[in-house]
Amino acid sequence: MTDYTQNLDRPVRNALTENSDNERKLTFLERLYLPEIFKGLAFSFKQMFKPDITMRYPEERWDPPAIFRGRPVLVKDNGKERCVACGLCARACPPLAISMQASETDDEKERYPDFFEINMLRCIYCGFCEEVCPEEAIVMSKDYDLVFHSRGEAIYDKEKLLVPKEELKERLDFLKSYKNRQFGQFWNYKEENNIHSVRNRDENWDTGLSIVDILEAKNDKETN
Ligand code: SF4
Ligand code: SF4
Repeated sequence: MTDYTQNLDRPVRNALTENSDNERKLTFLERLYLPEIFKGLAFSFKQMFKPDITMRYPEERWDPPAIFRGRPVLVKDNGKERCVACGLCARACPPLAISMQASETDDEKERYPDFFEINMLRCIYCGFCEEVCPEEAIVMSKDYDLVFHSRGEAIYDKEKLLVPKEELKERLDFLKSYKNRQFGQFWNYKEENNIHSVRNRDENWDTGLSIVDILEAKNDKETN
């Protein structure tokens, strides 16, 4: 029976085996090292004549594709934030980077964030806030180079977070194509059922009816 208590007091080097028979033997030239060094120098020399693939940042800036997740921003639609301060993003945010205070408005959307802050020292660019937002009010932008001189500067308020929807068009279009793939694929879930916000309703029908009324009217129209 194996004695598992052995070697506990004084660890030994490679307790399993000291046998090196399976190791590859170096050739004479490999043991000299010089040929390998010259091979490396020749490789570096050849690279000097190949096209440059690095960018001279910050003079040259990389334009990321729409799938890129840069800092989260709030979408500004017709001069106002789309956000209705539902708090879902703050709830989903793993490092608790988002804080907000809801307030009421006479607008159709009824609620808005009185203040909305993201602590960019905490944000891990996971995109969960964007995933859960029912209003497409918070999205990941292309902004990747953030600089702060103090901890206070890293707290982004509404002024810093709001970006007009026209500047976020690429990401919004990407989200539409990415999210819409689920319709009719895995569940029998229709795209029109995703029309959930006042924004969609007014843009598309401008009827002032509730979503349920609109969908029922649409169904009636299709069946008649
Ligand atoms: S990207 Fe992730 S970590 Fe950053 S604010 Fe959104 S949910 Fe929080
Ligand atoms: S989930 Fe969207 S609508 Fe809700 S508080 Fe966050 S940004 Fe605003």
